Amino acid sequence: MTQELPIRVGHGYDLHRLTKGRKLILGGVQIPFHLGLLGHSDADCLTHALADAILGAMALPDIGHYFPDTDENNKNMDSKIILKKALSEAENKNYQIGNIDLTIITEEPKLSPHIKNIKNTLSQTLNLETNRIGLKVTTNEKIGAIGRMEGIAAFAVCTLILKNIN
Ligand code: MG
Repeated sequence: MTQELPIRVGHGYDLHRLTKGRKLILGGVQIPFHLGLLGHSDADCLTHALADAILGAMALPDIGHYFPDTDENNKNMDSKIILKKALSEAENKNYQIGNIDLTIITEEPKLSPHIKNIKNTLSQTLNLETNRIGLKVTTNEKIGAIGRMEGIAAFAVCTLILKNIN
């Protein structure tokens, strides 16, 4: 029998296209803006990147495996459901989140006023203290697709810690 790893590291990335007529939701928080993210679910790229980081740490398939975009039941889905599913997959294998570190890349809108709210929302969704949640926002210096505001991208890294079985 192979020994379970005490710590696992996961990484996730996601990007969604910015478009008119959609809500902008990042980390489960609706951000006031004249553009929103296009996708089958609510298109919350930050939450998707984080869910993929958790699944990746467990060497499980990505979120598209659990929530295919061909399934009408997933249309406009609250991505916090996707995140909770990823967490439950890790917990079922006796792991808990150690810490997470997130980066959003976008030219606009300014997200600094929303960082506290996003952290609190993720904290509640994951039942994880905010001092274990890193969240940074950066621009792409007007370079490339993100620089032209064609989309918003997010990176996520997380550690998962094996729970004490004793
Ligand atoms: Mg996505």
